[in-house]
Amino acid sequence: MENDMKIAFIGLGNMGGGMAANLAKAGHEVRAFDLSEEALARAVEAGCARAASAAEAVSGAEAVVTMLPAGRHVAGVYEADVFPNAAPGTLLLDCSTIDVATARANIEASTAKGLVAVDAPVSGGIAAANAGTLTFMVGGTDEGFARAQPILAKMGKAVIHAGDAGAGQAAKICNNMLLGASMIATCESLALAQKLGLDPQKFFDIASVSSGQCWSLTSYAPLPGVGPTTPADNGYKGGFAAALMLKDLRLAMEAAQSVDADVPMGSRARELYEAFVAADKDGHDFSAIIQTLQGSRCPL
Ligand code: NAD
Repeated sequence: MENDMKIAFIGLGNMGGGMAANLAKAGHEVRAFDLSEEALARAVEAGCARAASAAEAVSGAEAVVTMLPAGRHVAGVYEADVFPNAAPGTLLLDCSTIDVATARANIEASTAKGLVAVDAPVSGGIAAANAGTLTFMVGGTDEGFARAQPILAKMGKAVIHAGDAGAGQAAKICNNMLLGASMIATCESLALAQKLGLDPQKFFDIASVSSGQCWSLTSYAPLPGVGPTTPADNGYKGGFAAALMLKDLRLAMEAAQSVDADVPMGSRARELYEAFVAADKDGHDFSAIIQTLQGSRCPL
């Protein structure tokens, strides 16, 4: 793949802004578009070319990356802007986190139009998007993956072919369901340890090298001053917002229902984040749920 390949990038928010900038830094002509003038201006400052509309960004592009809030936004942009303007054979990479059913329908509709599409959601937050260290999980054909891999590699540290259409989204929501449940389990264990009179740092030192060890504890410790520097050390700001965790848990529940899967821990995690997000007006990081669990009586 040539580094000067023309790439349309639609959705330049918290995640897309840094991702588009990394493609521009790698030498690509990135035709950027966002409904927000502020987001678009930031992308232009970071080396992207301003497009007046999504349609203009797509015309003449060899690949189209979307990083949008939800399935309906991606389906809407594909129908209104991508399908009427993309040349046959154009590669479509949707990096948004969306429901599996819409991801599959989008890829099917793209294939019918002679386009090559993959779902390629990410693991990693805003810092990883800016640093180009995201993990991409890709669903689609071997051809789609082979063409997408070198583009995604410019925005991430790992690019994995998860399987056929929709497999990337399936991997993403299963991963985040595991993360949501493991974060709550980590928080309640730390809160209980504290109430039992254990020094949280001591508990961290012990559990980190014992069978309770997990990423939520050792890489994302939810208490300030314990373990590595995490959003907990920054007033629970600047990490992965609890509202986004809730979004992913809702998608996981929807997917579980569609295949009649039993997910009791994921389901409870969704209920707990549902209550936390409803009460949290400040967009805190998902690890802030420890503050609810530290209360003298858990209200959830
Ligand atoms: P965001 O809200 O910051 O950005 C979305 C952008 O899309 C906004 O700038 C918005 O103006 C733009 N947009 C919406 N509709 C549009 C349209 N029709 N045409 C053009 N632009 C449009 O969201 P984000 O945090 O960047 O997340 C993007 C996606 O990545 C979501 O699906 C999210 O679930 C996923 N994700 C986010 C994180 C994170 O930490 N923020 C981590 C992993 C995955």
